[in-house]
Amino acid sequence: MSEEKFDVIVIGGGPAGLSTAYFLAKKGLETLVIERGPELGAKNVFGGRIYSYFLDKYFDGWRNEAPIERWVRSERVSFLCKEDGVTIEYRKYDDIDGFDSFTAFLSKFVSWLGERVENEGASIIPGVKVEEIIFEDNVAKGVVAEGEKILADYVVVAEGVNTLLSEKYGFRRMHTPEAVAVGIKEVVKLGKNLINERFSVSDDEGVAQFFLGYPLNIVKGGGFLYTMKEYVTIGAVIKIEHARVGDTYMREIVEDLRMHPYIRRLLEGGTLVEYSAHLVSEEGFGGLLDKPYGGGYLIVGDAAGTLLNTGFTIRGVDFAMESGRLAAETIVNAHEKGDTSEEALSYYKKLLDESIVSKALRKFRNTPKFLSNERLYTTYPSMLCDVLRRIYTVDEMPIRAYEALKEATKDRVSLITLLKDLWAARGGI
Ligand SMILES: Cc1cc2nc3c(=O)[nH]c(=O)nc-3n(C[C@H](O)[C@H](O)[C@H](O)COP(=O)(O)OP(=O)(O)OC[C@H]3O[C@@H](n4cnc5c(N)ncnc54)[C@H](O)[C@@H]3O)c2cc1C
Repeated sequence: MSEEKFDVIVIGGGPAGLSTAYFLAKKGLETLVIERGPELGAKNVFGGRIYSYFLDKYFDGWRNEAPIERWVRSERVSFLCKEDGVTIEYRKYDDIDGFDSFTAFLSKFVSWLGERVENEGASIIPGVKVEEIIFEDNVAKGVVAEGEKILADYVVVAEGVNTLLSEKYGFRRMHTPEAVAVGIKEVVKLGKNLINERFSVSDDEGVAQFFLGYPLNIVKGGGFLYTMKEYVTIGAVIKIEHARVGDTYMREIVEDLRMHPYIRRLLEGGTLVEYSAHLVSEEGFGGLLDKPYGGGYLIVGDAAGTLLNTGFTIRGVDFAMESGRLAAETIVNAHEKGDTSEEALSYYKKLLDESIVSKALRKFRNTPKFLSNERLYTTYPSMLCDVLRRIYTVDEMPIRAYEALKEATKDRVSLITLLKDLWAARGGI
């Protein structure tokens, strides 16, 4: 291994790294992907949904090959209180606008992508961690992995949100506690028939659901649920600063979420088969690197800050893959001229700036601030339950909706604060 030289070494075999390798190998560049997990997918954690826009555009035939669990037809948002809750559902009954997102296990999706990468002629070595990037005269020339040097003309850093190498070489500053959250995910085996019955879907139809309110109000986090073919994934994203409240840890909070009367009924009879946790970036546009390139190297995916959370949709995987495609285009251009200079690779920044990835992150640049408003997780879910509880709890004298709203608001939030929050929503989501 020590004698080998590649055109490109990609550090990290997640969606971003594999997408980069795929487009490089397609153009005939000798590409090596080094992944520290024992196999592809072993280290990749996500909630459960991938948007198909870029796959449709750049990956021929993927719909017939990729490990799709279910096509999302039902989008639900639930505001939970201790004993009741409010759920809003948006549902596509017919094939309007086609199918634009699907549920999947990221481990399987990444393995499938890996096969496509290898079919194009790139090599993937799992189970090896890159310890260092080799620089000569400020130009990346290769990496050190397991004590051995492997040389390349270009190095692509696709290490994900855990940016140890990027921080070591000063490509990005260390994440502050406010900039990242912890995502915790459980996988519950429920079986196809129970999922279809309880979520009111047919075999290929899936549900994507978000939760706000109890019990996540304690930690100011949000919850998610996705239906797979036979499994349901459920979890929460919690700011690091709230990871422990008194004696309650994140893990217990996800358990509490699973045991909420609304969710317990959906998952009854299921078996918990897996638990995982991973960091998630919360920075949005503010986390997108100003300079995701340098002499001989490029940075892609979560490591470059490409994850978008609009409050309703999370585009981590597809944006990571798109940044990889743009990095590959940059390298192919530079390689044709035999140029590894910082100037040649700055073309990546230009492509990224002009891309949907950067434009969407910019458009939603105020969202992280809006989503950090604690009242979204505490006051408003409980207020909503309260209003509807008052309206639908019938005794002698019926209540008007306005009275219910007035009662529910009293002592919870002032009119000025309410208006301020509504105003902030204008630029936030
Ligand atoms: C709980 C949770 C829920 C999420 N839900 C969704 C969702 O529903 N939809 C969505 O699109 N996105 C979601 N995301 C975000 C999504 O997972 C990421 O945006 C996406 O995986 C980024 O891809 P990546 O390739 O940049 O990074 P990663 O997937 O993190 O891949 C990085 C890879 O690099 C490897 N690596 C790191 N350092 C080294 C090293 N030194 N040497 C060798 N290998 C290394 C890692 O092992 C890993 O395999 C979620 C994330 C979390 C945590």
